[in-house]
Amino acid sequence: MTRKLAAGNWKMNGTRAALEDLNAIIAAHSDPSVDILICPPATLLMQAAALTADKPLDIGAQDCHPAASGAHTGDTSAPMVADAGGTAVIVGHSERRENHNENNTLVQSKAQAAHDAGLIAVICIGETLDEREAGQTLDIIAKQLSGSIPDGATPYNTVIAYEPVWAIGTGKVATLEQIAEVHDFIRKSLIDRFGAAAQDMRILYGGSVKPGNAADIFGVSNVDGALVGGASLKQSDFTPIINALE
Ligand code: 13P
Repeated sequence: MTRKLAAGNWKMNGTRAALEDLNAIIAAHSDPSVDILICPPATLLMQAAALTADKPLDIGAQDCHPAASGAHTGDTSAPMVADAGGTAVIVGHSERRENHNENNTLVQSKAQAAHDAGLIAVICIGETLDEREAGQTLDIIAKQLSGSIPDGATPYNTVIAYEPVWAIGTGKVATLEQIAEVHDFIRKSLIDRFGAAAQDMRILYGGSVKPGNAADIFGVSNVDGALVGGASLKQSDFTPIINALE
């Protein structure tokens, strides 16, 4: 049985001074009953992993290249993330899908690279506002699920993060009914494809999760944690979110 997961995505935020926050999170959660993952920018990966090496806080990257090595200026490979001490990598975040034209095929190959390197792939999916308003949400989710998840996905090497694009960084949280509808649909799709074991594959919600709304969101069926952006940047915001999940 996998545990619930509180994950923080720092995005392109944080210099070395931000590492202090990791100590503060650990101090507030010395024996957490949930998994805690922080994905700092690549520049902090190694130092963050060293700082938290024997602590109940895991470190992950925000992206990886599908290849293990090669002439890919500016990219980071999954084996490099593992070598730096990371245990997970976010792939297919909507900001990368949009800013770097990443499609489902590429995201799947990145997730496969993560698996090959022994990392957990946190695979992000989610519809845009236009897609939601056109009534296409579940179609888009279905395509992203079938196209972005590798065949070898298990509850131990894969986490799904449902992040409606219109709820990211906007303060607009999906309603509990909207979250329930999509998370139930994701669970059913995962079980259809991967069998009963997929009951344990964690499905995170992401998009304007804050201390004030976390408990309600965590009460929704098939929500196994959160992928938190802005509110993961300050320990005083992230700790109550972890507490709400415990
Ligand atoms: P916010 O929590 O800032 O809305 O970001 C969510 C997100 O994109 C996490 O990956």
